[in-house]
Amino acid sequence: MSEEIRLEDESDRWKWVCPNGHRNWEPTNNHFWCPSCARHLGADGVFHGLRNKATGEVYERDNLRLLTPAGPYQDLRSDHREGSA
Ligand SMILES: [Zn+2]
Repeated sequence: MSEEIRLEDESDRWKWVCPNGHRNWEPTNNHFWCPSCARHLGADGVFHGLRNKATGEVYERDNLRLLTPAGPYQDLRSDHREGSA
């Protein structure tokens, strides 16, 4: 079972929170990152699953499909970028 998140869609963003309930997380290549956690907890802010506020269920990165207006999310910082010129 997987869920889609439209990264540019506020209503989608509001459904999903980091393990500590913040909404300003950002996707990275294999996990997520939360600047609020990084700032407040003195941790690196990295986490591996988003919590759906409505159901309380946690979805791992692998079970989430992240969509942008240009298509599926890809981390441009990835070393595995395809078609680089
Ligand atoms: Zn957080």
